[in-house]
Amino acid sequence: MKGEIFSIGHELLMGELSDTNGSWIAAKLPALGIQLQFMSIIGDNLDDLAGAFARGLKRSDIIFTTGGLGPTQDDLTREGVAKAVGETPVVQEEVVKDLERYFQGRGMTMPATNIKQAYLIPSARFIPNPNGTAPGWWTQRNGKIIINMPGPPGEMHPMFENEVAPRLREIIKDEVTLTRNIKTIGLSEGAIDEMLTEFFNRGNPYLGIYAKQDGIHLRIIARAGDAATAQGLIQPMEEGIVSRVGPYVWGYDDETPEQAAGQALKARGLTLATMESVSGGYLVNSITDVPDSASYYKGGVVALDDQLKIANGVPAEIIKKHGSVSQETATAMAQAIRRSLGADFGIGIVGVSGSRGEMVQGRPAGLGYLSVAGPDRVKEMELRIPPRRVVVKRRLANTALIELRRMVSAL
Ligand code: ATP
Repeated sequence: MKGEIFSIGHELLMGELSDTNGSWIAAKLPALGIQLQFMSIIGDNLDDLAGAFARGLKRSDIIFTTGGLGPTQDDLTREGVAKAVGETPVVQEEVVKDLERYFQGRGMTMPATNIKQAYLIPSARFIPNPNGTAPGWWTQRNGKIIINMPGPPGEMHPMFENEVAPRLREIIKDEVTLTRNIKTIGLSEGAIDEMLTEFFNRGNPYLGIYAKQDGIHLRIIARAGDAATAQGLIQPMEEGIVSRVGPYVWGYDDETPEQAAGQALKARGLTLATMESVSGGYLVNSITDVPDSASYYKGGVVALDDQLKIANGVPAEIIKKHGSVSQETATAMAQAIRRSLGADFGIGIVGVSGSRGEMVQGRPAGLGYLSVAGPDRVKEMELRIPPRRVVVKRRLANTALIELRRMVSAL
């Protein structure tokens, strides 16, 4: 089945908003047996939208859209579909009542403009949206499908997962593509290539290797008539890969370093505290992005100035002897914060950000040190990172969390 995606909204065309919806949906389609052919960004203009739908219906079997389902005059996605298929929207009274209840539940009266969210054309059915006021539209006509979903990801993701994907799984009988992403750190691309030679250059399943911010990712891609058969192709290759590079694997699929570390701590009832300088709070922010992180994360100090490091228990003589950016200082930070907060693990991060080639206090920009202190040992690491500020912050924080996960899992 051939598909396309429209991300709709003027904000997207102005560069004020990045289209994350399009790539999110694109990643879901192979497993549903949909081959994505086009992704477009379209403004809130009725003729442009109607033209795009008409073109899309000619060249694709299914069109997904996000955005433009709001109540205002410039939300024209529904009108665009109606115009393209030549049908007239009619207000559905039961949906008006639902909308009124939605507003009453929030102590408000429904603005008259919201009525248009209760429009429907004869070929369309509503897709429920428990997280907002705009129901989606599922239009099916002459063997083609148009799926309109709201723009806010917090509304669109559950609508896709709970309503759209299950219905598509029933309808589509085409070949599906499943992927399994195995995330490693500590081996170079070349080393992995050598260790896994026998798995490369196979047609199906296919193995891809990608260098990312959080290490080397190995992606297995399998195609088959149904999901169970595709899974059956992935499994032996996954087992083969893990048997060779297992100690370097830190996560799978969408898992992030902070999730992997958090899960490892939580499963063992262990706690963490952090002290960072150059990463400027990136580490605290990543860790606390994970729901329920407060159950294992005691907190962190962002200590740029040495006085703050000393006030939090780092011995002044260590900084004086080895410098603020040194392995010894990173370790003293990890140990000090672990001790002062009574945590099982402590992380310390220091480093130099700046422009390429620049020296800061005798240290090159991009140099970083991290230490993970546990109950019985300390893991120390020196990193040379391309000195872009965000890269330095992300790489140090990610690597520290991956090392933490490894230490916790080995207990
Ligand atoms: P609403 O009922 O909230 O108005 P809508 O379907 O009309 O929803 P838009 O008004 O187009 O959606 O967008 C609402 C918000 O959804 C945007 O401000 C933005 O935060 C988010 N959003 C819209 N489109 C995208 C996109 N392609 N990628 C990421 N976020 C998006």
